[in-house]
Amino acid sequence: MTKVRGLAALSKGAPFVRHDFTRRSVGVHDVLIDIAYAGICHSDIHQVREEWGPSIFPMVPGHEIAGVVREIGSSVKKFAIGDHIGVGVFIDSCRDCQPCRDGLEQYCDGGMTGTYNTVERDGVTVAMGGYSNRFVVNENYAVKIDKTLALDGVAPLLCAGITLYSPLKHWKVGKGSRVAVMGLGGLGHMGVKFAHALGAHVTVLSHSESKREDALTMGADEFIVVHEPQDLTPLKRSFDLILNTVSAQIDINIYLATLKIDGTLVVIGLPGAPYPVQVGALLNGRKSLAGSMIGGIGQIQEMIDFCAQHSILSDVEVINAEYVDEAYERTVASDVKYRFVIDAKTI
Ligand code: NAP
Ligand code: ZN
Ligand code: ZN
Repeated sequence: MTKVRGLAALSKGAPFVRHDFTRRSVGVHDVLIDIAYAGICHSDIHQVREEWGPSIFPMVPGHEIAGVVREIGSSVKKFAIGDHIGVGVFIDSCRDCQPCRDGLEQYCDGGMTGTYNTVERDGVTVAMGGYSNRFVVNENYAVKIDKTLALDGVAPLLCAGITLYSPLKHWKVGKGSRVAVMGLGGLGHMGVKFAHALGAHVTVLSHSESKREDALTMGADEFIVVHEPQDLTPLKRSFDLILNTVSAQIDINIYLATLKIDGTLVVIGLPGAPYPVQVGALLNGRKSLAGSMIGGIGQIQEMIDFCAQHSILSDVEVINAEYVDEAYERTVASDVKYRFVIDAKTI
């Protein structure tokens, strides 16, 4: 077995405590990772607080993992000791269904195996995530990281990065596209960087005036503060694609009017409760309301390589283990620039 130091919530919403546990021994297709950094995604907070339904405790969250390969199994082909490596939101899938064969493991017919807060495919092991010092994973569920990329800024790419890259590629965003990103948090700021790098005209729709300068520096062309529905009136029929990354319950109907004819609003933020949609707002302009969830392993690798080519990293605030509870509070208050990343040495 592999001994691991982690940070766990022992019950719903409980403060984090140090938690020792074991992972499986390194199998022939596995790699053992010395974790360098783990990002704090708002999905971690939703799950620790059971905003998506019952969770499994003790919970070691963390699905934005960047580190260094420490040991490899005898059949491992993709990685060598010392390689930089990343693990994201899932660590396994059935490997056999059509989505898995198509590289869409996140939409596996049998359900992807999450990196934590889930029982693994052996039916027994409770998956423990990246707020820890070591990780064991099958080599096919990890990606290679170019060594020119700083690992602290890489960690959030494994969830926040791919979750915005994937819909931008799916909806074929490029030069001339007009894209809006709702919410400039961990996910949103990656959306701005990617959409800009792809040549789109990018507008941020935010409720935080204090983020204006940063958004423009990241590549946004416009920054609009939205407090009231009328703040969106001048933007009627402006966007081909809107990426909604807002983590809280909001009225998305007022945003539908800002789509062009045939435009699409992609729901990415997942506050946990259903919200109403006025179908009339979709009909008028043949608009689409869609969803998107992370991305497959092949596309995560493509996104990491794109980041290496374009020198794209997440803007991070590196923190020690002791600060995680406060980091949660600040994330919920939209007060992070733009992703908290735990230095695993401090766990
Ligand atoms: P985050 O860093 O907390 O960012 C969310 C942003 O939403 C905030 O920075 C803020 O942006 C805006 N916001 C928050 N509360 C708001 C409110 N009351 N009214 C209006 N705007 C508000 O969170 P994240 O890690 O980016 O995650 C965002 C959401 O995506 C979460 O629900 C998460 O669970 C979900 N998620 C989905 C996927 C997927 O695959 N679909 C993957 C990862 C995460 P401004 O300050 O700019 O307004
Ligand atoms: Zn996430
Ligand atoms: Zn499958």
